[in-house]
Formats: sequence, C-alpha cells, structure tokens
Amino acid sequence: SKTAYVRTKPHLNIGTMGHVDHGKTTLTAAITKVLAERGGAAFVPFDRIDRAPEEVARGITIDIAHVEYETDTRHYAHVDMPGHADYVKNMVTGAAQLDGAILVVSALDGIMPQTAEHVLLARQVGVDHIVVALNKADAGDEELTDLVELEVRELLTAHGYGGDTAPVVRVSGLKALAGDPRWTASVEALLDAVDTYVPTPERYPDAPFLLPVENVLTITGRGTVVTGAVERGTVRVGDRVEVLGAGAGTVVTGLETFGKPMTEAQAGDSVALLLRGVPRDAVRRGHVVAAPGSVVPRRSFEARVHVLAAREGGRATPVATGYRPQFHIRTADVVGNVDLGEKGVARPGETVTMTVELGREVPLEPGLGFAVREGGRTVGAGTVTEVH
Ligand code: GDP
Ligand code: MG
Repeated sequence: SKTAYVRTKPHLNIGTMGHVDHGKTTLTAAITKVLAERGGAAFVPFDRIDRAPEEVARGITIDIAHVEYETDTRHYAHVDMPGHADYVKNMVTGAAQLDGAILVVSALDGIMPQTAEHVLLARQVGVDHIVVALNKADAGDEELTDLVELEVRELLTAHGYGGDTAPVVRVSGLKALAGDPRWTASVEALLDAVDTYVPTPERYPDAPFLLPVENVLTITGRGTVVTGAVERGTVRVGDRVEVLGAGAGTVVTGLETFGKPMTEAQAGDSVALLLRGVPRDAVRRGHVVAAPGSVVPRRSFEARVHVLAAREGGRATPVATGYRPQFHIRTADVVGNVDLGEKGVARPGETVTMTVELGREVPLEPGLGFAVREGGRTVGAGTVTEVH
C-alpha cells in the first residue's frame, strides 16, 4: 500500500520563470537531484519534466510540469512551465498560484524579453517574492556576470521588487546535474535562499473549501477523480461538497497528493479528490468543487484589464465594445462579450475598465484574476472588481 502524506513542514508552491533556453528545466531537474541525495526528493530527470509529447498523445492537457521536493524546513510543489504561452496563461489564471518564484537568467545572455515579461506578470498576479538564479555561471565570465546581476537587480526594482535585497545566486543547473560538487553546492545555496527569503504564506484554512478542477480521471472500480490545487479552505475525507457547473452534490471518499493518501487537504495543496457517485462525464476541467452553498455562479462582472502591448505578446490593434474573446477564469475557458462603456475602445498597452457578459455562469468574486485569450494567445490580464 501507499505511504500516507504526513504534513510535517509548511507547504509552498514555487516555480521557475524566465526566458526560453536560460535553463529552467535543467535547474528544476538539478534541484530534485541535489535533494534526492539528502532524501528530500525523488530525482526527476530533464526529459520527465519536459514531457509534453507523451501526455499530448494520451489526450491529457498537461501544460504545467509539477515536481515535489522537501528541504530541511519545507515541502515544495514546483512548477516548470514548458512554453512561454503556457507561462502567461497559467500565471494569470492562477493555475500556478505561486508563493514565490525562481527567476532563471542565463549569465551568458542577460535579460531577454521574456525575462522582463515574466517579472511584469509575476507582479500583476501577486507573486511577492522572487529569488534569482544566475544560471550557466559555469560558462560565464565573472565581470560579465557581475553586470548581468546589476541589470537583474534593476529590473526587479523597476517592477516593485526589492532589487537591492533579493537573493541573486550564481548557479549551474547543468554541472549540478552532472554531480560537480562546486555546483551542487550552488543549488543548495539557491534552495537556502528560497527557504529564507520566501515567507510562508497565510493560508486561511477556515475559509469555505474551493478547488478549481484541472483534470478529471476515472479509476476503475473506484469512481471519478478530479485534480487541482485547493484555492482556499480545507477538505477532509467524508466531507460533503458540490460540483458547480455539474449541479451535483457528493461526498469526498478519497484524497491524495503526489500519489500519497492524505486525510485532509488545505489551501495551497495540489490534490486528487475521489468523488462518490459522480459520473465521469458530469464533471469537466473548469468546474469548481466547493463547500455546499458557499459560492453562487454568475455571468456578469466589471473588471480592470491590462490589454497587452504588441511587445508583451499582445494585439497590434485596439479592441472595441462587442469584442468576444475567451476568458480564462481559474481553470475555466468561457467566451465573454466586452462592453467598454463611454470609452468604447482600448488600445494595446492600456489598462481599462470593462463590463463582461460571459457565455455561461462561473463562480466569480472581486479580486479574482483572469486571462483574456484570442486565437490561442494571451491578449490581456485582468482582475474582477465587481460582480453583478
Ligand atoms: P529552458 O528552456 O529555460 O527550460 O532551458 P533548458 O533547461 O531546456 O536549457 C536550455 C539549454 O541550456 C540546454 O542546452 C541546456 O543544456 C543548457 N544549460 C542549462 N543549464 C545550463 C548551465 O548551467 N550551464 C550551461 N553551460 N548550460 C546550461
Ligand atoms: Mg524548459
């Protein structure tokens, strides 16, 4: 039988961000390797993290790779997002609600467009703490690396992060992965910086339970399982819950995290919930599992939306009232009709107020973040200000 998950340390969600090819996935693999030597992780090789083709073949949309590890003081779930588009979408929809981030910057290349964009997005979605990994330090010239460090600190300060005080650690994911002691020590130093610089977040375990459904699976003989990250509250085996969108009340008959059974999951945990008597096709990605009666789904809301500039990957042309993009709200993807009021138009790069009428009801509340997408790319990032 499986070993149960025992909560002995605070759990945090972190992730790697930064420009493509700066070494995010290599560093993620190196972290699991270094911690595996101390018994704090199962080593996850590079090609298991960058695993998109296999998953796509099986028809499961996995656009975030999760790995799990423990330091002396904490348990971490770490996300490494394979592509830039996934990064933008997952950050703004809260699919990856990060308590802190590791900004990976190649010491050979310095700040590149996606480095800056990810810092901007992290600020917008409320990631309060960034630790910098100056990667490829094995191959970099020392003076050049000093310059890159200065440049990164300035970038952080420009976006409201403490550029003077943020830890900037020179690492080599590649050499650490190869077992070179100088560089495995650099990864240890990076983890120490994460442990001490990123504070343990306030979790509100007493709030009504809510989990946005990311995936639905069937376990033969046991029933329907939904997976996702608990957004707020606590859920225990035996609790009654409702599946919003499916209109069904049910009971949680099993709980797991990273394949380990648990009796209680709380905000911040990535979990699988086994639901009694729910047919597999009654629940989908985008639905929400919540404490009965705790949320009312709605269709209409007001929001502040930043329309991404073309240089941020957004549109080249303005949008006008009557625009009908997709709204990615939590894990849901819903069409919505935009009303820009008296202003009537919004140009790329502007932040505007809009009223949105969604194609179907979803649980909404002020403060909720969402992404606006069109033709598979992100064109805006917003926050709900008022629900009608
Ligand atoms: P990602 O796109 O940010 O996930 O980057 P990858 O982890 O896929 O790495 C991109 C390339 O950089 C690969 O060829 C890696 O082998 C190389 N690389 C990654 N980390 C290091 C490092 O620490 N030193 C050196 N010299 N190369 C590295
Ligand atoms: Mg990668």
